[in-house]
Amino acid sequence: MENDLPRSPVVHLIFTFKFFILFIVDAHLDLSMNALEWNRDLVKPVAEINAREAGLTDKPDRGKAVVSLPDLRKGNIGLVVATQIARYVALGNPLPGWHSPAQAWAQTQGQLAWYRAMEAAGEMVQITDSHSLERHLRLWMDDSSPQDRPVGYILSLEGADSLIDPGYLEKAWADGLRAVGPAHYGPGRYAQGTDATGFMGAAGRELLRQMERLNIILDATHLCDDSFWEALDHFNGHVWASHNNCRSLVNHNRQFGDDMIRALIDRGAVIGGALDAWMMVPGWVRGKSDPRGMNCNLDVLVDHLDHICQLAGNSLHIGIGSDLDGAFGREQCPYDLETIADLQSLPALLGRRGYSPADIDNIMHGNWLRFLRKAWS
Ligand SMILES: [Zn+2]
Repeated sequence: MENDLPRSPVVHLIFTFKFFILFIVDAHLDLSMNALEWNRDLVKPVAEINAREAGLTDKPDRGKAVVSLPDLRKGNIGLVVATQIARYVALGNPLPGWHSPAQAWAQTQGQLAWYRAMEAAGEMVQITDSHSLERHLRLWMDDSSPQDRPVGYILSLEGADSLIDPGYLEKAWADGLRAVGPAHYGPGRYAQGTDATGFMGAAGRELLRQMERLNIILDATHLCDDSFWEALDHFNGHVWASHNNCRSLVNHNRQFGDDMIRALIDRGAVIGGALDAWMMVPGWVRGKSDPRGMNCNLDVLVDHLDHICQLAGNSLHIGIGSDLDGAFGREQCPYDLETIADLQSLPALLGRRGYSPADIDNIMHGNWLRFLRKAWS
């Protein structure tokens, strides 16, 4: 995908204009976490959310948010995968988290309640099957429909610690849960995550069996290498990686090595490119580096996407999984992005690298939609 075609300014303008209206799917946002733990009213525009955070210093991204529901609409990002997230920490685990799985479960139920309130307000709509997906896409593709369309969301669980036992998955499925990443950071109850090592074990394999039975998508993101390979060996359902970049470009266990990317491609997975600066450019130091100084812009994401395309030999296995509200904001994301609506810059950047309009459609939405249509057929 590196055939640089020379293009006249006029043709380029036409491309840019055509691309501007593309529908975008973002496969990873932590919306409910921002609503409840960051106390952000996401029905307000980003500028308003940030203005209200002036002077707050309790979190590094105060006043630097880039995600809100109006800004998703502005960017024509009509479908997202939105998480529930709550960690359990055993005694001695230094990571932040709940002291019992029951507390973590309760946290996720509060998050679900926020999504339900957004649905009741007409701000969001839950997508759970092919019927609701196609109905939602028709609404967003219809240029004559009102511009305050609800943002569609597919409910996902990032880290499975909060499932008190695998039996809770059935209740979660009934509430609309359609994807589970068994691990997050550190050691987990069902799998080992980023910066941890080790296998999933009996509980993790039981979780995978129940996920397969319920047709819940396995999100391979955050699985440590041992657990990653064990999960792929024991799970026969649909696998994606909602937000993951490439280890060969930024060497960290959070990223996928080429062998892992190839295994995911073999499974028909789609991998969402993430816009967290430390996963994009090598040498990032949290709290010290700044995006401009590190040359971290949206074009860097294209390097990661392109690397996966080169391994696959096509553009069918990548998409966007921005993670743009994952406990960071403008201080740790591409400097040429002011709000998530600026994801609309990506089509032109991809075009400049020689990606065809069909490739670009695949990357901005087509691959996620094809994956979902197959998973839910
Ligand atoms: Zn994550």
